[in-house]
Amino acid sequence: MAFEGLADKLGNAFKKLKSKGKLTESDVKEAMREVRLALLEADVNYKVAKDFTARITERAVGEDVMESLTPAQMVIKIVNEELTALMGGSEERLKMPAHPPAVIMMCGLQGAGKTTHSAKLAKMLKSRGSRPLLVAGDIYRPAAIKQLQVVGAQAGVPVFEMGTEDPVKIAQAAVRHARDYGNDYVIIDTAGRLQIDEALMNELKNIKEAVNPTDILLVVDAMTGQEAVNVAKSFDDLLDITGVILTKLDGDTRGGAALSVKAITGKPIKFAGTGEKIDDLEVFHPDRMASRILG
Ligand code: GDP
Repeated sequence: MAFEGLADKLGNAFKKLKSKGKLTESDVKEAMREVRLALLEADVNYKVAKDFTARITERAVGEDVMESLTPAQMVIKIVNEELTALMGGSEERLKMPAHPPAVIMMCGLQGAGKTTHSAKLAKMLKSRGSRPLLVAGDIYRPAAIKQLQVVGAQAGVPVFEMGTEDPVKIAQAAVRHARDYGNDYVIIDTAGRLQIDEALMNELKNIKEAVNPTDILLVVDAMTGQEAVNVAKSFDDLLDITGVILTKLDGDTRGGAALSVKAITGKPIKFAGTGEKIDDLEVFHPDRMASRILG
């Protein structure tokens, strides 16, 4: 399960604190040193980990924590609150413009889970009573259109495609189609590359300019840790994304990406992918994720 190592190590640090009864400032500092190490081992960005534990130390030593009857419990409560805040506070929802359709542009590197998550998101929106339209915007990978049609069929959602036509034209035509046919969400599956390159970024910028998306969601693979965060930073610098879908949280990811994305990019994780099946998508709840990490 994801976060297992981190959860174990935090558990150990807190067990020591709990065994102490009354706490001194150095007890708190020692515990926070352990927390910081655990975060670094989980592949959390160095500065994020350092700032995080500094904030907790300040709060724990500054508030009436040390004088309370259960100081360890209060420190853990602060850690929980700060973990929640670190991952974005309250959960983030998709926007709906005054004049539908909402256009969601899905982007990310090849293999991150873009196509799969376009369909998962479409299915989730459909189950909430919406009428999404999937759009095949990856014209380079020969099997990409077919793949989207397969997962689109699993989701029970129509797929708009124009073969290998210019992706900007496809996106524009898809939005017109959605207006004509009453689709309230247009989900554009864009092309991915193995690495960020200029041609790809220009194409994405052009699509963005042409259809003015309501949301630009970046799909990143949680298993790649800090690399996922670097990718998110680069995409955000170039495209000003509105949120992240963190995929493959069902694997044994150490958790670094989940904990660093918001702090580094300022953009929230909106959804989490938890498996290969069409229903394996969850709204990302920072508070629930924090409680899961703290066990
Ligand atoms: P794309 O190149 O970004 O469009 O990536 P795909 O959607 O084709 O996904 C790449 C691979 O990752 C596929 O084999 C998916 O089944 C798998 N995958 C996608 N999301 C998840 C997830 O949340 N968990 C797991 N375990 N596998 C996933």
